[in-house]
Amino acid sequence: MSLLIRNILVLPFVLLTFLIFSQNVIQADKIIQKLCSDKFAGRGYVDRGDSIAADYIAGYFDSLGLSSINKNYKQSFDISINNINSVELTIDNRSLTPGIDFLVKPNAPTLSGDYHVFNVSQKMLQSGRIVNKVCKAIKRGYVPVISVFDSKDQSLKNTIIEIKKLSKEGPIIFLKEKLTWSVSTSQSKGMEIWLLDSIFDRFSKDIHLNVSSRFISSYKSNNVIGYIEGYESPDSFIVLCGHYDHLGKMGEAIFYGANDNASGIAMLLDLASYFSEHPQKYSIAFIAFGAEELGLLGSLNYVKNPLFPLSKTKFVFNMDLMGGGGKGATIVNGKIFPSYFEQFKSINDNENYLSAIRSRGKAANSDHYFFSEAGIPSFFMYLMGDYNFYHVPQDNPNNLKLGTYYNKSFLLIRDFVFKLCL
Ligand SMILES: [Zn+2]
Repeated sequence: MSLLIRNILVLPFVLLTFLIFSQNVIQADKIIQKLCSDKFAGRGYVDRGDSIAADYIAGYFDSLGLSSINKNYKQSFDISINNINSVELTIDNRSLTPGIDFLVKPNAPTLSGDYHVFNVSQKMLQSGRIVNKVCKAIKRGYVPVISVFDSKDQSLKNTIIEIKKLSKEGPIIFLKEKLTWSVSTSQSKGMEIWLLDSIFDRFSKDIHLNVSSRFISSYKSNNVIGYIEGYESPDSFIVLCGHYDHLGKMGEAIFYGANDNASGIAMLLDLASYFSEHPQKYSIAFIAFGAEELGLLGSLNYVKNPLFPLSKTKFVFNMDLMGGGGKGATIVNGKIFPSYFEQFKSINDNENYLSAIRSRGKAANSDHYFFSEAGIPSFFMYLMGDYNFYHVPQDNPNNLKLGTYYNKSFLLIRDFVFKLCL
């Protein structure tokens, strides 16, 4: 057979495989783009981005024809939140970029003022009277700029704790090698600023700061829950889940959360789409949790107020950080539920989906946690690779490129659900 004819014969199969493998990625990319668009405001609490995201997911469930237990697929619960509505930091008339150059601590209060720089080197931190010196400097209108320090040094640690207490008297800047933000359910009186070490000039003199934040003691967040009825035992449920919330905004900076966790929601919606056309023996519930970044609050609320009995919940599969995959996947709780882990791993090995499946013990690091604490077999799957943007504005769709690992993960989770329904 000539090479040409062989290629002509092989081509349709290659194309078909390509189409099967790329179909989900195209749809998942669209979902991630949508969840990370500016209107969704990083799916946090400034500009109600979380609630726009919850509406979008509920609408998606509706378009797939999923059944709803509560009205509009939603389960609401109350949270408190410290919103940081605007931030401005200028050093010697150079205006810095929020989110990229600096962060304010998530529990920061409102504060503005003009200050002088007081450089505190690592060597100065080791001197006995530094806490006193810093205190005096703050009272005289200086902002202490604390250099990057060795956080393993125990006596230094205690000094830093004492210095942090002084942030109630005036702002303190901590230089950092890397910035990572989060969100807070409370507001403190202290103002801490985290500044990227590489952009700070030690000869700087003047600082202008303007932070406006608002503490909201009662804010309605939502879990979004839909399901596909099982054809044999509809009272028994398999739960597939992931959180849709992210950090939202710090002033103008948007934390998009493409990998964390628009990618997991894309996978959740993809699976919902598949199983809506392929119902299984048990009912399959799809839960998009809110307020995960605030300390797993959505899933905690759900486990306290389940919409169907926990005793009838056969398995919970949580997806968070589904954007990588080049280095395989990790299953948190794999070591707690070894027989389920063996099943999962054997599917992967037989089908050659991902390069490696690692197993971990228990960890309170995503929405599976309170389910497994309640005695329900639960996994948390995340993909591993070279994508290193975590809780920074750069975790956005321009940087996140889904590939075949996404589709292979989809097939792996789908096959595992088949197995759970045998
Ligand atoms: Zn996450």
